[in-house]
Amino acid sequence: MQDTDTDCVVIGAGLVGCLAALGLSRSGFRVQVFETDRFSKEMPEDGRSLVLSRASIQILKALQIWPNLSEWAYSVKNIRVSEKGTYGSVLLSAEEVGAQELGCSFPAGKLLGTLRNAVVDDQNILVRDKASFSEFKEHNDYCEVSIVEDGSTDKVTTRFLIGADGSGSTVRTALGGSLSTLSYGQHAVVAELTASVPCNHKAYEHFTGQGPLAFIPTGLNTYTSVQCFDVEASIHACAMSDDAYLRLTEKNIGGRLGEMSNLGKRYSYPLMRQKSSILNSERVVVIGNAANVVHPNGAQGLNLGFRDVATLLTVIKRSGENSDTKDILEKYASSRLKDHRMTGRFTDLMAQGSRSSLNTLVILRRLSMVAFSHSSRLRKRLVQKASGLGLLDQSVDFSLWGQ
Ligand SMILES: Cc1cc2nc3c(=O)[nH]c(=O)nc-3n(C[C@H](O)[C@H](O)[C@H](O)COP(=O)(O)OP(=O)(O)OC[C@H]3O[C@@H](n4cnc5c(N)ncnc54)[C@H](O)[C@@H]3O)c2cc1C
Repeated sequence: MQDTDTDCVVIGAGLVGCLAALGLSRSGFRVQVFETDRFSKEMPEDGRSLVLSRASIQILKALQIWPNLSEWAYSVKNIRVSEKGTYGSVLLSAEEVGAQELGCSFPAGKLLGTLRNAVVDDQNILVRDKASFSEFKEHNDYCEVSIVEDGSTDKVTTRFLIGADGSGSTVRTALGGSLSTLSYGQHAVVAELTASVPCNHKAYEHFTGQGPLAFIPTGLNTYTSVQCFDVEASIHACAMSDDAYLRLTEKNIGGRLGEMSNLGKRYSYPLMRQKSSILNSERVVVIGNAANVVHPNGAQGLNLGFRDVATLLTVIKRSGENSDTKDILEKYASSRLKDHRMTGRFTDLMAQGSRSSLNTLVILRRLSMVAFSHSSRLRKRLVQKASGLGLLDQSVDFSLWGQ
């Protein structure tokens, strides 16, 4: 086998790329990471709070990254699901499934900043920022990756090329295949705020006629609100005064959280679903948002990307040093099909079903709420599914990850 400059090239130092780089390094591989943006040790600005599932926390613990992150974590123990105009609601609780928590919320900027700092401090990882992937060529024994930096092109040879370059992935484009895209015609407006009703580790998911509205608990009385609006309404919501936005938010959640104040900066994100028709070639694979983008409703996108990383690490380690890279990546892709399909469907159904005013969907939605409120078995199944633990157990073996 030809000597290569490195074992793995990771394109993109977002949350999924950083986790992949750390996981590969901790499994004994030499890694090079290329990131288009400036890469600094400062915490990047991002108004979101991301909820990591129990499965994701388990992955971070197995890679010994958790101790760096735990100071930013706020435990989510319950989720109250309700619908506008109806009295019934469903409480999903960790206690009911015998767990301490359903997951944890993190300030997104702190999460990324902490992972990036761990990448920079890792001796086995070489990071090059302001350096963009442009193309790859696969050869019998290696893959040649072209990187553009300061207007000139550099070539790096590697065994594996991992595209973690987000929804506009150029690695995915270079792989060929097609991309299916569905725009939800909505934006999520995200803002931090304080409410008079204390968080008490409870999140809220409220279905309104215009789209889902979520409150992620982040502290004593602080929440991150995520409101989905049609595009026009989202522009209006971002332009209104702080006071008007707070009063609108209080009204949209039906007064459940009392009086709101201390509104933070508002951020707006277009909502879409994307799915790549192929995940790999002989030496190249796409993961995270480069492979799948899902509606943020249900907090599944990043968790799905973390499970991509966990399965990839397991398949690579299970296959041994001298295995054929094509076999490894085919095994990876087939192991991920079910989770990608199920998570895509789950988030899509919640997004489409929550807005629909079609009689049949409204009746179905209300019947499901009644069924969930009366059946502990159904609630447990939903919590288990959303935690990602079942899917993780099928394809991940943490014991293989050490050197
Ligand atoms: C409002 C909102 C709320 C959300 N909440 C949750 C939640 O609570 N829980 C959850 O699990 N998920 C959530 N998500 C989804 C989550 O944010 C994404 O799934 C996750 O950030 C994807 O990470 P990534 O690393 O795959 O992609 P990105 O974060 O897009 O990272 C890609 C990186 O690649 C770099 N890059 C791009 N092109 C190149 C190139 N050619 N060369 C080099 N580098 C390149 C980019 O600069 C970037 O740094 C939410 C999403 C939204 C919009």
